[in-house]
Amino acid sequence: MSIQNNIQTLKKSLPDHVTLVAVSKTKPIADLRKAYDAGQLIFGENKIQEMTQKWEEMPKEIQWHMIGHVQRNKVKYMAEYVDLIHGVDSLKLLKEIDKQAKKHDRVINCLLQIHIAEEDTKFGLDEKEVFALIHSEEFHQLKNIKITGLMGMATFTDDKTQVRREFKNLKSLFDQTKGTLKDISVLSMGMSGDYKIAIEEGSTMVRIGSSIFGARNFD
Ligand SMILES: *Cc1c(COP(=O)(O)O)cnc(C)c1O
Repeated sequence: MSIQNNIQTLKKSLPDHVTLVAVSKTKPIADLRKAYDAGQLIFGENKIQEMTQKWEEMPKEIQWHMIGHVQRNKVKYMAEYVDLIHGVDSLKLLKEIDKQAKKHDRVINCLLQIHIAEEDTKFGLDEKEVFALIHSEEFHQLKNIKITGLMGMATFTDDKTQVRREFKNLKSLFDQTKGTLKDISVLSMGMSGDYKIAIEEGSTMVRIGSSIFGARNFD
């Protein structure tokens, strides 16, 4: 299947309330162009430098999502243009995003990354840390960031029951935070291998790479 076909087939199969982020990390500009020509306007990358190069080369109507782990000292390189940062996992990082956004007179949309995987390896906040963050005085002083939702990655396993349980936990936390975070509407969960389960469990945004662009050699 071609990239164009993959995009079109996927878009047809996704419910209207689910946004598709085409994860183009490690892929060449030529592949992104094919997706763009098929109508895709939202791309996800996990390295700031690579994303910035692609932003410079691709049409400006494209929205760029940072889906990877963010190093604080690199926020400045994407503050001018990034549309949504999925992987925010500390107040320190939020403060840096706020500071850089201010320089460009912008409000940058962010998702809090939640640790939902039962395995130990993924980044993210736990439930307690989320509530501590969103109830903190310092958080409420930040005017150039907006938390628009939550993001999480399930354990990489064939055990579908476990994946479903992890997504359910994230959805439940999402509903609980609505009391404090009035603007939240985005629940970013689901990748090529598990997006169907994620949508059944309430995802509103899926991040799909290999099912569109083919397997990656490295990440
Ligand atoms: C790479 C990546 C994806 C896409 O993974 P696929 O399995 O290729 O769909 C989604 N989310 C994050 C955070 C990623 O790093």
